[in-house]
Amino acid sequence: MTNERGTLFVVSAPSGSGKGTILSEVFKNSKNVFYSVSATTRKPRPGEVDKVDYFFIDKDKFSNLVESNGMLEYATYCENLYGTPRHEVEKKLNEGFDVILEIETNGAMQVREKMPDATLIFILPPSIKELRRRLKKRGTENDDVINKRVAEAEAEIRQAYSYDYILMNNELSDAINDFTAVLRAAKLENKKTKILIDEVLNDA
Ligand code: 5GP
Repeated sequence: MTNERGTLFVVSAPSGSGKGTILSEVFKNSKNVFYSVSATTRKPRPGEVDKVDYFFIDKDKFSNLVESNGMLEYATYCENLYGTPRHEVEKKLNEGFDVILEIETNGAMQVREKMPDATLIFILPPSIKELRRRLKKRGTENDDVINKRVAEAEAEIRQAYSYDYILMNNELSDAINDFTAVLRAAKLENKKTKILIDEVLNDA
């Protein structure tokens, strides 16, 4: 396939929708996919590792990055800042890797503006009730934070109408298969593969 530059995928899903599990399964099976590590001012949760799960930085450092145009996008979520460091994403795309950004909806809309070729994927939880149950089960946040996250989730789900693909994480194995199918399909889109038509026509 003549598709030198990688494809940028933006994945949004309310926390508790199971996107982390889906993505880690997908990564096990794909060599050419790079996961962009975001920067955040949120404190690490138990078990989270700096530079692996996030670049955990303070507000000053975050503002400096924004001011120096170092962020591809950024947004506030539950009173913390989150952003995608631009440099690594550009580099990996230019090297031919597909890049996945796992970001919330405001950031996703900024990426769509700046990089219209990006493919936007939204993962829905089976229901709001189930989402609340999963957040409680995780046990890392208190009731107040869980209520805030459920409210944010509802607002995010309303944004899902403008994504390219909608997946539902009901059965994990189905969601993983669907996700893999979307990755493949997005790479075959005409806007990214026009060059193939030229190649066939020119090789008469
Ligand atoms: P969490 O605190 O649960 O890790 O993430 C909270 C939300 O922030 C999730 O919806 C996650 O996708 C989003 N998020 C993580 N990194 C970024 C980022 O770089 N930019 C934006 N806009 N959102 C992010």
